[in-house]
Amino acid sequence: MSVRVRPPAPKKGFVCMCSNVECIFCRIIARTIPATIINETDTLIVIKDIAPSAPIHYLIIPKKHIVDLASFTAEDRETLASDIFACAQTLSQSDPDAKDFRLSVNNGYGAGQCVFHVHFHFLAGFNKK
Ligand code: 5GP
Ligand code: ZN
Repeated sequence: MSVRVRPPAPKKGFVCMCSNVECIFCRIIARTIPATIINETDTLIVIKDIAPSAPIHYLIIPKKHIVDLASFTAEDRETLASDIFACAQTLSQSDPDAKDFRLSVNNGYGAGQCVFHVHFHFLAGFNKK
C-alpha cells in the first residue's frame, strides 16, 4: 500500500517568498512550471525528482530562495533545519517503502549541485521491485 501525503490546494493570494524568476525551483513553487507535488507546508515544498536515482526520489525544497546550504543564516538553521528533518520523518512514515531512507544535499558545483536553490534529496524504496 502506498500512502501519499496529499498537497493542500494553493492558498488564495499565495505569494512566493522569493522573486527569482530565473530559478526553476522558484518557478515550481510559484506554480508557473509543473511538478508532481507530494507535500507542502508554509516553509517547504516536496516534489518528485524529474530524473529519479532511486525508486522514491523526492526533493525537499525550502520556499525561501537560498542558493545553497553554506548560505544558511543562523535563522535559516533554526527554522528550516528543523522543518526539513520533520518533513523527512513525515515522508518516511507516510509510505512503508520509505521507512529506510537517505537524506542528502549537494553543496556547490564541485559536490554535484546543479540547481542553485537549496534542496534536500529524499531517497528511498531501494528494495522496491
Ligand atoms: P542537485 O544536483 O542540484 O543536487 O539536484 C538537482 C535535482 O533536481 C536533480 O536530481 C534533478 O533531476 C532535479 N531537477 C532538475 N530540474 C528539475 C525540474 O524541472 N523538475 C523536477 N521535478 N526536478 C528537477
Ligand atoms: Zn529559487
